Amino acid sequence: MDKTHDKVWLNCLGIIKDIVEWQHFKTWFEPIKPVELKGKVLTIQVPSQFFYEYLEEHYVNLLAKTLKRELGKDARLEYRIMVDSGNDKNKPLTMDVPGQGFKTYSNNEMDFPLVINNPVKNPFVIPGLKKMQIDSQLNPIYSFDTFIEGDCNRVARRAGKTVAEKPGTTSFNPLVVYGGVGLGKTHLVQAIGNEVKRHHAHKVVLYVSSEKFINQFQDHSRNNAINDFIHFYQMIDVLIVDDVQFFNRAEKSQDALFAIFNHLHQSGKQLILTSDKSPKDLEGVQERLLSRFRWGLSADMQMPDYDTRMDILDKKMRNDGLEMPKEVVKYIAYNIQSNVRELEGALISLLAQSSLNKREIDLELAKKVLRNFVKSSSREITIETIQKMVCDYFNLPYERLLQKTRKREIVQARQITMYLAKQFTKNSLKTIGEHFGGRDHTTVIHSCQTVKDLMDTDGLFKESVVELQQKVQLAAM
Ligand code: ADP
Ligand code: MG
Repeated sequence: MDKTHDKVWLNCLGIIKDIVEWQHFKTWFEPIKPVELKGKVLTIQVPSQFFYEYLEEHYVNLLAKTLKRELGKDARLEYRIMVDSGNDKNKPLTMDVPGQGFKTYSNNEMDFPLVINNPVKNPFVIPGLKKMQIDSQLNPIYSFDTFIEGDCNRVARRAGKTVAEKPGTTSFNPLVVYGGVGLGKTHLVQAIGNEVKRHHAHKVVLYVSSEKFINQFQDHSRNNAINDFIHFYQMIDVLIVDDVQFFNRAEKSQDALFAIFNHLHQSGKQLILTSDKSPKDLEGVQERLLSRFRWGLSADMQMPDYDTRMDILDKKMRNDGLEMPKEVVKYIAYNIQSNVRELEGALISLLAQSSLNKREIDLELAKKVLRNFVKSSSREITIETIQKMVCDYFNLPYERLLQKTRKREIVQARQITMYLAKQFTKNSLKTIGEHFGGRDHTTVIHSCQTVKDLMDTDGLFKESVVELQQKVQLAAM
């Protein structure tokens, strides 16, 4: 008569009970549920990954011995690991893994050598190249020092700093840094990794791109070594996964990440993730994973403002021992508004061009080189743009500029704006007048004349106008 899984397991327990201390039996064997017997393979369900690991480490001999007594020498054990107990919406998630210890058994009748578990394979190690320690895969050039803080990244940077000092113990777990390409996500999370290593030398830090993780997972899955894969990642203290948007639709890899995430989070390990979108907007990623991403802190990164861009360029040039005229740096900072990677790219292209052509870097060269970076080489400048620039410059609210007032500073600002609009746009005097609360063309003519006169007589006034002209010019390039 065929034995059932219940019966087989009951018999095993009968033996185990006599061998294992009562307390241990209660803790490690009572929670196990036999679920299936297929041929000589018994599957038992265990409540967690940790549970499974514990059994494999401490009781594999015993389990093998008793099971072989029941089913013969080909007996094997498989575990069904509960990864998530589920809820109303989601079924409980389980993962089947073969008992590792069993595989290493020799099949010599009932002879049970002492089992040494296979050491976990490190997916980063190329076979044949033995490496005992886990390399963090971090690039040491990325540091907090070289990461300029601005409004655009303040929250993310500070949270990162905190996490680096106290990994796994703050509420920023996971720390999710999100934002568009080239805004510094990789730099920041790598800086966190490097900083952790500096403060906590014993912690195992690992940086991995999502693509790499997914590839590794698929390789391991082909070789029936998912267990090794997951186990490896569960040994990490600070796990950094870059660009999780690439998990999009990689369902099986998401399951693995989920198992790893849970294990690490439960054991107080730090998770750091980056993504091109906020976790709530990520598509093709399981909700249960997203909900965990939201457990900690999600901080976004944006394009740095002009001043921060200047700081980034300055710092970069100082680090590399470079110099170039201030107006050129300003020109780059002003015109590259897409992302920091392009900002750096523009700087590098400019340096390359200058050294290739043995030519000094000046504004003219910069304009030539940056033509590829700047969207339209000659932007149409509008009256509104000039109005805003003048208001910014004089620190005036926009509405004030259009008001009917005799207040000198406002009158002057308005006159300068008209003068610049005449100089830098193709609009008629009539149109310009209309943009200033419906004034007529004679007012515009009068304003332009006044500005010219004042520039001839008032040095300070002239300075302001010249500076504004430069700004408008930059914006128009
Ligand atoms: P992302 O991962 O968001 O696509 P990266 O981290 O690769 O962006 O950043 C692109 C480049 O810009 C890198 O060379 C990085 O060093 C630089 N960078 C981005 N933000 C900053 C910053 N705030 N300060 C200094 N360099 C930055
Ligand atoms: Mg990146």
